[in-house]
Amino acid sequence: MLVLNWHGIGDPPRDLDPGEARTWVPTASFESVLDAVADRSDVMITFDDGNVSDVEIALPLLLERNLSAQFFLPAGLIGEPGRLDESGIRKLTGTGMTIGSHGWAHRDWRRLRPVEVKDEYERAPEELGRITDQRIDIVAIPFGSYDRDVIGRLRDQDVRRVYTSDGGRTDPQQWLQSRFSVRRDTTAEDIRAMLAHRPAPRERMRRAAVMWAKRNRPTSGMGGFARE
Ligand SMILES: [Zn+2]
Repeated sequence: MLVLNWHGIGDPPRDLDPGEARTWVPTASFESVLDAVADRSDVMITFDDGNVSDVEIALPLLLERNLSAQFFLPAGLIGEPGRLDESGIRKLTGTGMTIGSHGWAHRDWRRLRPVEVKDEYERAPEELGRITDQRIDIVAIPFGSYDRDVIGRLRDQDVRRVYTSDGGRTDPQQWLQSRFSVRRDTTAEDIRAMLAHRPAPRERMRRAAVMWAKRNRPTSGMGGFARE
C-alpha cells in the first residue's frame, strides 16, 4: 500500500510558515497524480492541515474520479484564515470523506509543554467529533515528529490508526502507517515509478530500522532525523 499525503493545492490563500511552500502543489500536477492512481486499490489518499483547498479544489476533483480520501485537521485552527470552517468539514463528511485528527494547534508533539498535551491528544478529536458527529479514531502526527512518548500517548488514547511521514510504502495492517508527502515538484511519473519499484531487502531493512529507532527514541532526544 502507498499512502499519499498532500497539504495545500493551488495558490496559498494565507501566509505560509517557513518551509511550507514546497508542500503546496499546483492544481494541474495534483490532477495528474490523481489520474495516475485513480484505479489503484493499493493507493490511499490523505490531506493534512485543513487548508480551504481541501474543499475548494481537492474535493470536486476527487468526486469527479469517484475517489475517497482521509482529511487530517488541526482542530484548533478551524475557521482561521485560509483554513476550513465547520461547514467545510461537514461538506467533506457529507460526501463520504473521512476526518482524522492532526492535533490542536499544529505543534511538534516531541516538544509539547505539559499544558498543551491534553489539547493536542484529547480535545482535538473531541472537537472534530462534535462537528462531524462521528468518533474520530485516526490521527496524523504533526510534522511526522514522533518518539516513544508520542507513541505511548497515542496507544493510551485508543487510536485505531496513526499516520506518519516516513515515506515509502506501508503495510495496511500496521497500526503505525508511513506516508509519502507529495511535494511541489513531485510528478505523476515519480508516483508511477514508486508503485512499480520493488524495494530490495536491504532497503526495506534500512527503512524498518529507522522507523524502529524513531518509535523508540526517548523524549527530548535531539537526534539527526529529518523532520517532514
Ligand atoms: Zn501538518
